[in-house]
Amino acid sequence: MGKQRILSGMRPTGKLHLGNYLGALSGWVKLQAEYECFFMIADWHALTDHSNTAQISKDIEEVLIDWLAAGLNPEVSTLFIQSHIPEHAELHLLLSMITPISWLERCPTYKEKLEMGSETNYGLLGYPVLMATDILIYKATRVPVGEDQLAHLEISREIARKFNYLYSRVFPEPKPLLTKSPKILGIDGEKKMSKSFNNYIALGEKPKVIKEKVMRMFTDPEKIYLGDPGHPQKCNVYNYHKIFGQRLGEDVELISRKCKEGKLPCTTCKANLANVLIKTLAPFREKREQIQREKQMLYKIIKEGREKAEAVASSTLREVKTAMKMLY
Ligand code: ATP
Ligand code: MG
Repeated sequence: MGKQRILSGMRPTGKLHLGNYLGALSGWVKLQAEYECFFMIADWHALTDHSNTAQISKDIEEVLIDWLAAGLNPEVSTLFIQSHIPEHAELHLLLSMITPISWLERCPTYKEKLEMGSETNYGLLGYPVLMATDILIYKATRVPVGEDQLAHLEISREIARKFNYLYSRVFPEPKPLLTKSPKILGIDGEKKMSKSFNNYIALGEKPKVIKEKVMRMFTDPEKIYLGDPGHPQKCNVYNYHKIFGQRLGEDVELISRKCKEGKLPCTTCKANLANVLIKTLAPFREKREQIQREKQMLYKIIKEGREKAEAVASSTLREVKTAMKMLY
């Protein structure tokens, strides 16, 4: 039996950060050995809430550099840009005709935006249909997702089922590959780390900036004076130590104990964390700089990805049209 196929993507909406690495990228790198992977830079998805498009081409380049620096391998996986494959738009239109609006209106992301009073648009409502298209056009059987994306993936499955029932069996029903790592909070300690909130530490961040950002982080609000006992379990800085320090052999139990005993000043703890993050990101930064010196390579990778993705997408679209008796 051949390898199962995976499709996943990221929006070019800013610099990739520690959250993207933990929650997605590090997992993708490992999946490459076991699955046939299609990784997509989802520029159309970026448009759902970014009408300023001037930055997109630069962000696409940054995402690609981050991917390569993290270890995505274009020799093994297909790395491509969504809008390079116009078949996505055509299939999206066809699938939109069989998608009840009620399925879309009950989506958590859409409801959240409505409740926040943000302006919503047709594209945002239809975002799960485009996501279904992205997956189904490659007949991916597995989709790496976080818990929060499960509802969207369920819509992809329902659309596949409905299409197969109405016309003929073209699409496999994609199953989730659940990402185990929980979402990390940003340096604000309030919201999840996100490209769109200014609360991230980018993968390519300079040591000086890492230090500045970490020193700005909030620690346990109940620890006011130096000797006050801290509450590491409630402290975002401690959580980062657990996630990143442990990998480098840091004794996090000791940090916790000293903090609780009031023997670890928050500034020392943060300076230590800054060093941990600087060390963690050093190989990454080096690789990034090397890639930046060989920029021509990026065009080649994107061109090859486009050809590979195009071949699969156009063949699926042909099957779809045949099933719909619309190939004329
Ligand atoms: P945006 O603000 O534009 O939505 P983002 O930072 O949330 O950007 P996405 O492109 O939405 O990033 O997500 C890319 C991948 O990174 C997804 O698989 C998502 O689950 C994961 N991810 C994003 N933020 C975090 C986080 N804070 N912790 C863990 N994983 C994350
Ligand atoms: Mg996001």
